[in-house]
Amino acid sequence: APFPIIMNGPVQRGFGRGGKELGCPTANLPEESLPAMSSVTSLGVYYGYAQVIFPPSSPSTPSTSTLAPPPSSASTPPPSSSDPASSDPTNPPPAPPSNPIPSADRAVQPMVMSLGKNPFYKNEHLSAEIHIMHTFSNDFYGREMRVVVLGYIRPELDYTSRDDLINDIEIDKHVAVRCMQRPAYGVFHDRETFDALF
Ligand code: ADP
Ligand code: MG
Repeated sequence: APFPIIMNGPVQRGFGRGGKELGCPTANLPEESLPAMSSVTSLGVYYGYAQVIFPPSSPSTPSTSTLAPPPSSASTPPPSSSDPASSDPTNPPPAPPSNPIPSADRAVQPMVMSLGKNPFYKNEHLSAEIHIMHTFSNDFYGREMRVVVLGYIRPELDYTSRDDLINDIEIDKHVAVRCMQRPAYGVFHDRETFDALF
């Protein structure tokens, strides 16, 4: 078996085929990242794990700590953690990082991938569209994405109705999650094992 198949590269814009409108945004890797997939012969839907790489968080605010800034001095009472806006406006706490990345956005997450032909190249080249089963705080175009493909779910199908397509995507997600509950796949969810693949 060719699995696991390892891929990585910067996330590119897709073809505007409405992934988000279908409730299923799909992140695309560039052509250069796809040769590993030529070891499989079937177009269709695959499952595995993916991770998006964000810049390291600032050392003073590790992602595991609370987002509340530390008190600026001993004479200043700490701001109420339940309502930071109520703190003394004449002595505001230091501004938090402008765009803190939730630690779950950095985590290894389950994914489903549609492997098809790329219409931009007159269907002569492969395209891989990856839906990560996690709600991200922002889009991540341009970010490095790492992908471990573990198995095949089903062939490509033509849909006459949008509802049928949306339904099948939901089934694919459930199948993927169930497949990855196999104990043997647990190692790939482990951060150090995952990191070692790249
Ligand atoms: P495009 O045609 O550019 O691929 P989509 O509607 O398919 O547009 O949205 C894909 C983009 O959405 C990704 O490139 C990524 O930046 C963002 N995105 C947000 N959440 C996810 C997610 N859970 N899985 C994949 N992409 C996501
Ligand atoms: Mg897409």
